[in-house]
Amino acid sequence: MIWLLRLLALAAALFFLRWFFAWLWRQLAGGVSRAGSARAVHQGTLVRDPVCGMHVDAALAVRAEVNGEALHFCSERCRDAYLARPPEERARQAEEIRNTR
Ligand SMILES: [Zn+2]
Repeated sequence: MIWLLRLLALAAALFFLRWFFAWLWRQLAGGVSRAGSARAVHQGTLVRDPVCGMHVDAALAVRAEVNGEALHFCSERCRDAYLARPPEERARQAEEIRNTR
């Protein structure tokens, strides 16, 4: 009758392993979905960089105020490049951005 005991022990071990992996999977899947929802919550307003045309998160962008208008840039380099431009070129570009938005 020893084979029956061995079979029972094996069945119990398999059952435990199956349960353990199901638990492990739940932990991993739960972690992933939590991270996903955190990302969704963080996702803010996207604004367009007038220099390179890249879309950046308004909360993370480099800001500059030009003629009372708040502008957003992906980096300080883009901001400086924009501020170095002549005002008429800036005005033309601002118009372009308004039209393509
Ligand atoms: Zn840029």
